[in-house]
Amino acid sequence: MTDCIFCKIINKEIPSYTIYEDEDILAFLDISQVSKGHTLVIPKKHVANLFEYDEDLAARVFTKIPEIARAVRLFDPEIKGLNLLNNNGEFASQSVFHSHFHLIPRYATDSLDGFGLKWETKGDTLSSENFTEIKDTIISKLEEKS
Ligand code: 5GP
Ligand code: ZN
Repeated sequence: MTDCIFCKIINKEIPSYTIYEDEDILAFLDISQVSKGHTLVIPKKHVANLFEYDEDLAARVFTKIPEIARAVRLFDPEIKGLNLLNNNGEFASQSVFHSHFHLIPRYATDSLDGFGLKWETKGDTLSSENFTEIKDTIISKLEEKS
């Protein structure tokens, strides 16, 4: 896609700090490092978000993520964990519409508060009927697709 910033990175029209590249994916440092080592993994095929993946693309991309995550973790002994984040759609804070997975190392010294990974849970406000209805509706959507 010509006006896509990540396609331009794939095509080397824009430079990046590339960590790993093969025929299917590219992994490179996010220009706005949430923490040192913050890496993006993207498919070379332009898809906007997770909703556009088929099984083959999913297999090609997801199979590589654990190995890249392990390498990022080993970058610094102070890294004690890693968040794998994936925003899908503007409403879910996606700002670049070429699918990407954030690998964000978590340091012993960082604070969960500063990271802003907190949300209110609503589970305790739902009845068992609510849970069953949600489950059954999602199952019916899965069955419609297969
Ligand atoms: P999103 O908000 O869509 O989940 O994340 C997009 C990410 O892409 C942001 O974290 C942003 O810093 C990163 N980004 C945007 N433009 C560039 C760029 O030109 N180069 C690199 N390396 N990262 C970028
Ligand atoms: Zn693209």
